[in-house]
Amino acid sequence: MSQQGYVATPPYSQAQPGIGGYPTGFGASPPQAHYGHYGAPPQPYTAQAAGVLKPAASSPSGMPPPPVSSQYGSPIQQNGAHSQKFPPPAVSAPAMPPYGQPLQRPAYQSMAQATPPTQQMTNQMSAMSIGGYGQGPLQSPQSPTSSAAPQPYQMPSAPAMGHPPMSPTGHQPPSMSACPPMTAGPPMGATGAPPMGMPNSQPGLPPMGGGGFQQPGGPQGFPQQPGPYGGQMPGSQMAGPQAGAFAGGFPGGAAHMAGPPQKKLDPDSIPSTTQVIEDDQAKRGGQLYTTNLRGQVPPLVTTSFTVQDQGNASPRFMRCTTYSFPCSSDLAKQCQVPLATIIKPFATVPKNETPLYVVNHGEAGPIRCNRCKAYMCPFMLFIDGGRRYQCSFCNCVNEVPVQYFQHLDHMGRRVDLYERPELSLGSYEFTATLDYCKNNKPPNPPAYIFMIDVSYNNIKSGLVKLICEELKTLLDRLPKEEGAESSSIKVGFVTYNKILHFYNVKSALAQPQMMVVSDVAEMFVPLLDGFLVNFQESRAVINNLLDQIPDMFADTNESETVFAPVIQAGVEALKAAECSGKLFIFHSSLPTAEAPGKLKNRDDRKLVNTEKEKILFQPQRGVYEQLTKDCVAQGCCVDLFVFPNQYVDMATMGDIPTHTGGSVYKYSNFQVQIDGEHFLTDLRRDVEKSIGFDAIMRVRTSTGFRATDFFGAIYMNNTTDVEMAAVDCDKAVTVEFKHDDALNEEAGALIQCALLYTSISGQRRLRVHNLSLNCSSQLSELYKSCETDALINFFAKSAYHAILNQPVKTVREILVKQTAHMLACYRKHCASPSAASQLILPDAMKVFPVYMNSLMKTPVLVGSAELSTDERNFHRLSVMSTGVEESQILLYPRLIPLHSMDVVNEAVPAAVRCSEERLSETGVFLLDNGQNLFLWLGQACPPDLIQSLFNVPSLAHLSPDMTSLPELDNAQSKKLRSIICAISQQRPHSMKMVIVKQKDKPEMLFRQHLVEDKGLHGGASYIDFLCYVHREIRQLLT
Ligand SMILES: [Zn+2]
Repeated sequence: MSQQGYVATPPYSQAQPGIGGYPTGFGASPPQAHYGHYGAPPQPYTAQAAGVLKPAASSPSGMPPPPVSSQYGSPIQQNGAHSQKFPPPAVSAPAMPPYGQPLQRPAYQSMAQATPPTQQMTNQMSAMSIGGYGQGPLQSPQSPTSSAAPQPYQMPSAPAMGHPPMSPTGHQPPSMSACPPMTAGPPMGATGAPPMGMPNSQPGLPPMGGGGFQQPGGPQGFPQQPGPYGGQMPGSQMAGPQAGAFAGGFPGGAAHMAGPPQKKLDPDSIPSTTQVIEDDQAKRGGQLYTTNLRGQVPPLVTTSFTVQDQGNASPRFMRCTTYSFPCSSDLAKQCQVPLATIIKPFATVPKNETPLYVVNHGEAGPIRCNRCKAYMCPFMLFIDGGRRYQCSFCNCVNEVPVQYFQHLDHMGRRVDLYERPELSLGSYEFTATLDYCKNNKPPNPPAYIFMIDVSYNNIKSGLVKLICEELKTLLDRLPKEEGAESSSIKVGFVTYNKILHFYNVKSALAQPQMMVVSDVAEMFVPLLDGFLVNFQESRAVINNLLDQIPDMFADTNESETVFAPVIQAGVEALKAAECSGKLFIFHSSLPTAEAPGKLKNRDDRKLVNTEKEKILFQPQRGVYEQLTKDCVAQGCCVDLFVFPNQYVDMATMGDIPTHTGGSVYKYSNFQVQIDGEHFLTDLRRDVEKSIGFDAIMRVRTSTGFRATDFFGAIYMNNTTDVEMAAVDCDKAVTVEFKHDDALNEEAGALIQCALLYTSISGQRRLRVHNLSLNCSSQLSELYKSCETDALINFFAKSAYHAILNQPVKTVREILVKQTAHMLACYRKHCASPSAASQLILPDAMKVFPVYMNSLMKTPVLVGSAELSTDERNFHRLSVMSTGVEESQILLYPRLIPLHSMDVVNEAVPAAVRCSEERLSETGVFLLDNGQNLFLWLGQACPPDLIQSLFNVPSLAHLSPDMTSLPELDNAQSKKLRSIICAISQQRPHSMKMVIVKQKDKPEMLFRQHLVEDKGLHGGASYIDFLCYVHREIRQLLT
């Protein structure tokens, strides 16, 4: 290693104009609009009933009907009174359309049975009554040992959401007696108003906004008042105007309903998430989901299904909180159901689904509406013999460019409809022209820079050696363009503690060269040539370097580090190379060395549960704020792998990654032997995953509503352009919509998400996702079309965003009020008349309360000084960019009983509800929340099972440090390992396995995830929450 000492040349790079360098003004309005061009009012997009031969767009699906003489020769198929479906090409037909780039087989495989919308909604409503008030004290569902014998019930003070200081053993097992029987059929047991001892905190409707956190809810009773239930709890009763729907929802529910009077409130009688998941899997699992219908509600994220794009984006790319928007803003305000979509633009497409086609329109570039700049898509309406088209987003009539002209058939559709992805598919890509490139220059391929903290802690723990060893093989697996021989991504290396070391790894060198920059206040990159290289070409020099790094710093005693200058160096290097890219930073401590961005310990848990708690979540600004802007402008994504032994100010250190499309990984008290594999798995996935750089996203909508709020690992310089230094296959952006006018039932609500980005080989591309939703003036349509998993994703992100500016307590209050309000509105406007004492939940939202309650018990919102501030911030940051799959499993983990698993059957055993009372001393359970895998072992679980799984004679012999199962040659071991493997592959992060023995200390960690129970750090049980929400609803309705 030759070292060139302290280099002090001036920086190579110059300030670049920000990200706005797109001459065509990505998304900007053109100077002149062609609106109303023809002197006639623009034609509405959808006008006629199906069957009328008029130019296209007659179907409620928003999709043009298929041509009679399709090239595929399939007959037209009608789906009842609903829209026509696309005819499928015969598989053997000349079906390979001349799409720009034949990536794979065409999308059309077979004609799927589309589900008529009505069919999804037959179980529109289930009902639940928590009635029988005053008939006796409530028997708790929480007491696993409770027998049928009624016990006097004393509600613990502030049983519900108040997060009272609560030790795990600090509450008596509540109980209940003398509840009325479960009944099916018409509502029962609603005898008069209950003597509810709850504070009447809130007369009338609360002054809530349309779903945001704008107005603090004020101290309105719910969370912090002691003893809201008084001494009596309402009894509970199931009843249902639509008992059939209800019985289907709950295992054993029917039996209870039909059976003799029950003495206790059966936990099985309240809506079950595991049952909802199972039912959807049974009903829609394994099926083909075709996207030809407007406003079609997709299967749940937990259901496995295959998507066929027939004109709307796959739910893998876009998932909505409801698929039927209310027509007016008044209705939207009335129901307070958030109107949002969760967009995962780079979502992984399973191997059996068609990857996106790339359309190349040559130098002319993609075709866009002159007025609103929407891209050509299946929603555009061709008229005037094909010479013009009307934009369905803004109604502007545009000329069809000469080179794009095509005749229309007698149905008014272009005859090349099925040859063009942008006319027939919901998702596709365009190759972008130079107009879409910064400074009108094609971009260079991106670069990955590995920046390793070589301070004392990381050397001593063996982390530096581990990273260097791994990189030697990992760099062979950098992502590459489909069909390319090798990756175009360049790589570079930096090590640092208080100063930075850059390495010249040019292939011509016999040895790597180190250059040191000690002036961290004025960061620059001391070399241009040889810093970013092609791994294949420089393999020998790089391997030489990776061998040397651990030795070079083996004797270091430097424990201070810098952080902001490291990111600055990475940005400067990318600027100098004129490319976008990603920084992989491996860091272990609070950056306390004298340098810009120096941080100090500001962890003050006395702020928890005060008005100032938000300070704990707010990042330090100044240097970091500017650095974020620099990163975004350069397309520099930051991934942070942090290995803390103590407080590191996660709020600040994680801020740049989460505004640049990056990820934060945290390995507390890292030990190579225990955590090494866990970390390496994360690193490998992160390096290999599919990703786009220097991205800017616009979400366009048809008239009447617009995107107003955006949550994700994003940066916003204005109100419309979502900037992402990078966006990978796991990152999702949650977008909220608001009305600015009335919506039209016929036209529906159209959304187009356009993402301009640089591919891993340096191509500028536009990825377009289109989705059409229904609109209705009936709120019942909205509630029918709700998606609970998407709703809770929205609420999690908006709440986690709100705590930056509002006390956590206020945010919790707003969440509860809004939950009650949404359900009360359903009750008032959509449900059949029934007694006030009944709790009636919309079928599509029947498990929403359990998710909401779980959200309020997450480390971020629970407001407990026992929790580490860094841990709360880490949780917050990791949720802000997650998709619906991840937020679902996080807020309702899967609890899988293993002791009774059928080792012959391939299937994963059915999950049980997340509650302590589902555990048994003789059992073994696996809990998966997407971040950890807990293997819980009952005290009395059979020794032969322990032997089979762990190869030790008893629990006592089992090491708590074990993080993986030994590979043993027996059926139980193989089965469990295959389950773990299958689960791990579904998750974006590697999951650490934690062995939990019943009644051992780590059990506390595990029990936090039993989300139906009372929270260990505060927060209500599911049933208490439901009772509380019901009370709130009753108040709203009176
Ligand atoms: Zn337009």
